[in-house]
Amino acid sequence: LLDALADQAAVAIERIRLVADVERAKLAAEADQLRSALLASISHDLKTPLSAILGAAGTLRDYASAVSEADRGDLLATIVDEAERLNRFIANLLDMSRIETGAMEPNASLQYLDDMVGSALRRAQKIMSRHRTVTDIPADLPMLSVDPVLFEQVLFNLFDNAAKYAPVDTTIRIRAWEDGRWVSIQILDEGPGIPPTDLERVFDSFHRVRKRDHVLAGTGLGLSICKGFIQAMGGTITAGNRTDGSGAVFTIRMPIPGDTPKLEEP
Ligand code: ADP
Repeated sequence: LLDALADQAAVAIERIRLVADVERAKLAAEADQLRSALLASISHDLKTPLSAILGAAGTLRDYASAVSEADRGDLLATIVDEAERLNRFIANLLDMSRIETGAMEPNASLQYLDDMVGSALRRAQKIMSRHRTVTDIPADLPMLSVDPVLFEQVLFNLFDNAAKYAPVDTTIRIRAWEDGRWVSIQILDEGPGIPPTDLERVFDSFHRVRKRDHVLAGTGLGLSICKGFIQAMGGTITAGNRTDGSGAVFTIRMPIPGDTPKLEEP
């Protein structure tokens, strides 16, 4: 009887080993696939602006005398715009790798949300020039303990998306309120919103909801960077849609620093 049991156990162990091997092979294949998809996506995002730069620079070099003053201006603008896009993409990749390796060290200090929204809005002025912006931030909102550089980058990415995905002449709203031991901050737009099945995945690197989003000058990294930065500062960020079905809402929640007194705006 013992021998029979030992045989059965050996068979069972062998089966488990086989299943484990198959699972491991499956996981390895999935990881390989992901890595290839990531490489393909990064290569595409690097190659597109680079081709535009090479094309414009080549035209300027080879046809300098035939190119009109206006065309020359356009070609130079293409070179600068596309180089800026490359620069942004590489900066995003570096931020991502810092987040993933845990090398992100926020330099937190007490900040007024109002000030940070103001400077992010100034930075995004050009991008948001064809949208209306409305801010609703109470003057007595508690200060936040955040790294202003990272926090402003998060706001900028959200403003950039709102301006990119919501039609021109619509309103982008920024509001904040005290919510128990948290401060909630929302950015609301009047664009197409985000399908419920994508609400979590928009924070994944390179995840885009609609195919045509690829042609918009994004990197597919903006929201994953937002999430990485906000989590590194002890907060949360979620995506949703407006209850009346007209646009996306991004909600950031930051803990109110323990001993911060409520300060009036200076
Ligand atoms: P991208 O560079 O493509 O904008 P993000 O990480 O910033 O990358 O956003 C991921 C995807 O989430 C976008 O491609 C878009 O499909 C969707 N998305 C982000 N913000 C909005 C918004 N305000 N309205 C609708 N869709 C959005």
